[in-house]
Amino acid sequence: MKADIVTIFPDFFRGPLDYGITRRAQEMGLATIQVHDLRKFTHDRHRSVDDRPFGGGEGMVLKPEPLFECLESMGVAPREDRLAGAAKQSVVLLSAQGQRFTQKVAAELASLDRVIFVCGRYEGVDERVTDFLADRELSIGDYVLSGGEMAAAVIVEAVMRLLPGAVGNEASTQQESFTVDAKVKVSGDADSTCGSNGLLDYPHYTRPAEFRGIAVPEELMSGNHEEIRCWRRRQALKKTLRNRPDLLQGAELSKEDNTFLAEIKKDRN
Ligand code: SAH
Repeated sequence: MKADIVTIFPDFFRGPLDYGITRRAQEMGLATIQVHDLRKFTHDRHRSVDDRPFGGGEGMVLKPEPLFECLESMGVAPREDRLAGAAKQSVVLLSAQGQRFTQKVAAELASLDRVIFVCGRYEGVDERVTDFLADRELSIGDYVLSGGEMAAAVIVEAVMRLLPGAVGNEASTQQESFTVDAKVKVSGDADSTCGSNGLLDYPHYTRPAEFRGIAVPEELMSGNHEEIRCWRRRQALKKTLRNRPDLLQGAELSKEDNTFLAEIKKDRN
């Protein structure tokens, strides 16, 4: 996959994408990231990328011309082909007004050949970019950042770890929080049956078995796969109920899950 990032602060990306799995994905040739300096596509002395808003009001707005020119210089597939799925490419405008970025969207982007991220600044971007250049607007959460750069870095990291081969053990990215339909099933141990199904992940522990008098839950030490599976599922349900009850609404819960949930709720009262 190729990720292109269009920004007025290209130096911002020196660093954040050079660690861990994102770095490994690039070194392994699974992904390339190219950062484009928007100011290179200006033609005036001041290299202006922004201007005052029509209609008055606060702040400045990113002008459309440099953004259109920048994308046109990149050999991106035509917008009709992108929208129709004929080209496996997408132009993403980072925006607080965008659809919420989720693990599902990350998986969708990971299946594409090329994703172009357009980072806004100031009060935002001329709406003609939203309507005629970008294919979708994505927001990383209900808060306002000063620019799209942090958001683009977040999305690139979430997407790249889903590229096949990026994470050593592929099953591990399928069992995490929010992942609905796990594709990889590794049978034989308790872990393989503990996909999150759209809930939060279960708690993890490592050595030492006892730390400052606090012991690891005994179910995990039992060696009994079925007992471990039940404990993990129950803990995932418990944590989801506590921290993200909204996730339970859309989740496909089994009969066993509902029994666990009823028990958890009873224990709380
Ligand atoms: N006036 C806008 C905020 C502009 S913030 C509003 O009220 O909605 C400047 C830029 O930061 C935006 O153009 C966008 O690219 C980026 N940005 C801000 N918040 C964001 C978020 N939650 N997710 C993704 N990008 C965001």
